[in-house]
Amino acid sequence: MGRKDETEPNATDQSILEAWRLLFESETYCRDMVAPQDEPVFGFEVDWDDLNSYEDLLVNFTENTDHTLELGNLVLKEQFGLRDLPTRPVIRVINLPESRNYEVSDLRMRDRNRLLRFDVVVMDVSFPMGWLKKTTYVCNDCDAKWVENERMARERRKVKYCRKCLDAIMEDMRSDNKKPFYKDPNDFSMVAEENSYEDVQYLEFASPNMLVHGDGPLGSNTYQAVVFDEYVGMFSKGDTLTLNALVQIDPMPGRDFVRDTRRMIVLKVHSVEEGLSQSEGFSFSEETGFTFEALDE
Ligand SMILES: [Zn+2]
Repeated sequence: MGRKDETEPNATDQSILEAWRLLFESETYCRDMVAPQDEPVFGFEVDWDDLNSYEDLLVNFTENTDHTLELGNLVLKEQFGLRDLPTRPVIRVINLPESRNYEVSDLRMRDRNRLLRFDVVVMDVSFPMGWLKKTTYVCNDCDAKWVENERMARERRKVKYCRKCLDAIMEDMRSDNKKPFYKDPNDFSMVAEENSYEDVQYLEFASPNMLVHGDGPLGSNTYQAVVFDEYVGMFSKGDTLTLNALVQIDPMPGRDFVRDTRRMIVLKVHSVEEGLSQSEGFSFSEETGFTFEALDE
């Protein structure tokens, strides 16, 4: 296991774990603990308002979304395990409040890390891809194994030495009869077959507002969103969706020097709801393209 896993969860983490457990054991969510047997990943929907019923869960979810979800997914996986459900569940919080509504073309760098709700029209989809989420290493000397959590669209983390061997060396150096030489703590390898990957897919999209009021040919201005797991392969051009997503800043794709400082906004999608939630009267037809119904005119 990873080095960090060896310590007990801290007090905040413990209260988050407990809150998730209470939520999943509540009547509403117990009922939902069924999953299609043939799906490897199952999106388990949780209503935003229900997070509020458990102490500080909503606060932690909005302030530290990824970590709070990671803890929740552990608890949910345990609950599925107790019921012998083979599917891997992932929490999908839906029905975000209106205060989270946002027009994508208004996004700026200062919105980084905010969890917001967007109306989008899918303009194009990439082929399904994967990313290396966790890398496993093994020390060639002491056989210790450890796992590094990677970050998407970033360089793989640099691993410098085997912690166990290094600790042993440090210990020995402090002792009275030091060894004359030490083995090399840098001698480790990646265990490729134990690496874990996650399915991802990029969606190019515009907001209904951009399509109706924007200049230029359709599709010339689009944003990017990335979807994970069970959402991969689900969407196609022309779909109208509500995306609940974390605003993320990524390096420009295809940059030709590694220290390029330019960044672009990418929506890291947490959950997806069918249809638009903010753009009343928006419609699409082959003949007229994208239009808003004229209201009260
Ligand atoms: Zn070692």
